[in-house]
Amino acid sequence: MPMYQYTCKCCGVNFEKRLRMSQASQTQPCPECGGQDTRKRLGAIAVTGATTTTTVSAAPARSPFT
Ligand SMILES: [Zn+2]
Repeated sequence: MPMYQYTCKCCGVNFEKRLRMSQASQTQPCPECGGQDTRKRLGAIAVTGATTTTTVSAAPARSPFT
């Protein structure tokens, strides 16, 4: 199954989901804040070499209410 990258518009966290094709169009809730306002980033990750995108390890600001 391909991996998809998402960005949460609530808390700004990036996360990955491994999804079936049939699930890929569905909204994935944010694992950090549980928000539904997430956006799928371009493409699946499982592409070849030349990925210069930033890694997903960064943990940006969480919800101000935590
Ligand atoms: Zn979030």
